[in-house]
Amino acid sequence: MSRREENVLRTGAYRETMRTLKEYEATLLKKVGEIEAKCPACGRPGLKIEDYLYNMPFVGDIILSTGKCSYCGYRYNDVRVVEAKAPQKIVFNVEGVEDLNALVVRASTATIRIPEIGGEIKPGPAAQGFITTIEGILYMFKDILEFLCTTSSDVDRSVCEEKMEWIKEAIEGKKKFTLIMEDPDGVSTIVGKKKKPIIEPLET
Ligand SMILES: [Zn+2]
Repeated sequence: MSRREENVLRTGAYRETMRTLKEYEATLLKKVGEIEAKCPACGRPGLKIEDYLYNMPFVGDIILSTGKCSYCGYRYNDVRVVEAKAPQKIVFNVEGVEDLNALVVRASTATIRIPEIGGEIKPGPAAQGFITTIEGILYMFKDILEFLCTTSSDVDRSVCEEKMEWIKEAIEGKKKFTLIMEDPDGVSTIVGKKKKPIIEPLET
């Protein structure tokens, strides 16, 4: 994923995290840590990261990390569940509109894939963690696709339109598809209101 694509994702990810936290009324417990790190955008040591512990309904305890570089203004966001699991592949089968409300806690170490449209969000040096719903993931893919299809000259317009139509129908709950999240650190999760995802060990 290019730096410009990452910027699109970053804006979307931040918005989705804030929207989801508000929606589920996550309870702010306390600030549990603070570190100064090297900024992945400008390379200077001005990124102050603060860690907050939240108890999130349906999910449990999570750590939300947030920071801003004092030199270039780069925003850092990450999230992870407190109770880490073994490296795992989480497979969630979306079968109807009710499954779109499943919660997704994506740590920056995790890859998200929707094989049906060949869409992928990968970890990287400037990857962001976020909390959203499966619907929110579809909106992120929509944002990235819109960005690619309007700014890149070497894209096939008909493929763009086909994929955009697919995403729009998926957002309306008219598509069955698979959301796969692979996290080598085991700190990401998907929580459905009624349905549980399929968990498989991740070969690393
Ligand atoms: Zn910076």
